[in-house]
Amino acid sequence: MNQFEYANPATVEEAVALLSAKWGETEVLAGGTDLISLLKQGIAQPRLVVGLKNVKSLSGIEAKGGAVRIGATTSLKDFIANKDVQSNFPGLVTAARNIASQQMINMGTVGGEILQRPRCWYYRNGLGLLGTKDGKSLIETGENRYHAIFANSGAAKFVHASSLAPGLVALGASLQIQGPKGARTVAAGEFFAAPKSETERESVLAPNEILTAIEIPAAGLKNGVYEIRQRTGLDWPMVAAFVAFKDNGGKAQDVRIVLGHVAPTPYHSKKGSAALEGLPITDASLANAAEAALSEATPLSGNKYKVPQAKVAIRRAGLAAPT
Ligand SMILES: Cc1cc2nc3c(=O)[nH]c(=O)nc-3n(C[C@H](O)[C@H](O)[C@H](O)COP(=O)(O)OP(=O)(O)OC[C@H]3O[C@@H](n4cnc5c(N)ncnc54)[C@H](O)[C@@H]3O)c2cc1C
Repeated sequence: MNQFEYANPATVEEAVALLSAKWGETEVLAGGTDLISLLKQGIAQPRLVVGLKNVKSLSGIEAKGGAVRIGATTSLKDFIANKDVQSNFPGLVTAARNIASQQMINMGTVGGEILQRPRCWYYRNGLGLLGTKDGKSLIETGENRYHAIFANSGAAKFVHASSLAPGLVALGASLQIQGPKGARTVAAGEFFAAPKSETERESVLAPNEILTAIEIPAAGLKNGVYEIRQRTGLDWPMVAAFVAFKDNGGKAQDVRIVLGHVAPTPYHSKKGSAALEGLPITDASLANAAEAALSEATPLSGNKYKVPQAKVAIRRAGLAAPT
């Protein structure tokens, strides 16, 4: 591990003031379950790590004004145990519970989960965020079984690692951010971004900004998730689907089908969502929506298997949404 300084600010303003405007020079530490391994492997080599554990205002869950606000450093354990989260967002609770292991759930924070770095083999083995050599993608012709099947024609071909992110997009969450110029709010659907170069990251968060909270409307959307995993042990899903909709007299309205682990950002399938709009939620209507959603997939040489998996995940996520 490279040497770095550690700062332990007590307020968000102090934390922001310590951060560099250039990615990589400083890093934010929440539960540390991802960042510490990146520091140990030398993939992250900051001069300064800014810990958030003493910034008390960043932790806690509050239901107010028709929304549930989750402080960014709230642990996954507290998120799962919260009654307002449980009653409004069962899909998110299942997604968080599926994270292995219990130690990860105890230590990991909601903000850190959303901002965890990609699990791409190329990135984790020091070949850069985009896995290129001499300007060419190593992923396109190399080992790409866990890579993207959507939105993979650009520089980024990894899949977004977060289990909560698809649900946040589907449920219309917004992310509250604090930076040197003050606070701003970004819709979850616009927060995640595919980097085009090694100097960018996987969201619109700037290097000197901190995610302070996530606000999810308690809009009465039915919601469910289904993840396909290789094993129940310590691993990430291969494919996940999150389905949210309003129950309008037995028919689905305002449908959002968002896939996880299939693209560099959570993948909102507008085509799949439209195919389900106005229909009762049945295995047949979901299967039809799944076909529509996956008709736009562009798998790489080694990950065609994700296409049928994603279809199954959509069907089961829709059926998992409590009605
Ligand atoms: C074996 C294993 C299996 C796992 N399986 C899953 C899984 O199935 N699904 C899943 O989603 N995750 C999985 N995880 C990942 C785990 O959920 C994350 O490591 C954890 O949630 C990260 O939270 P943290 O608070 O420890 O983040 P940290 O490690 O502290 O931070 C992670 C990243 O987020 C940034 N960051 C954190 N908080 C903020 C903030 N408030 N503002 C700005 N930047 C911030 C940090 O700078 C860092 O880059 C797994 C991890 C392991 C090791």
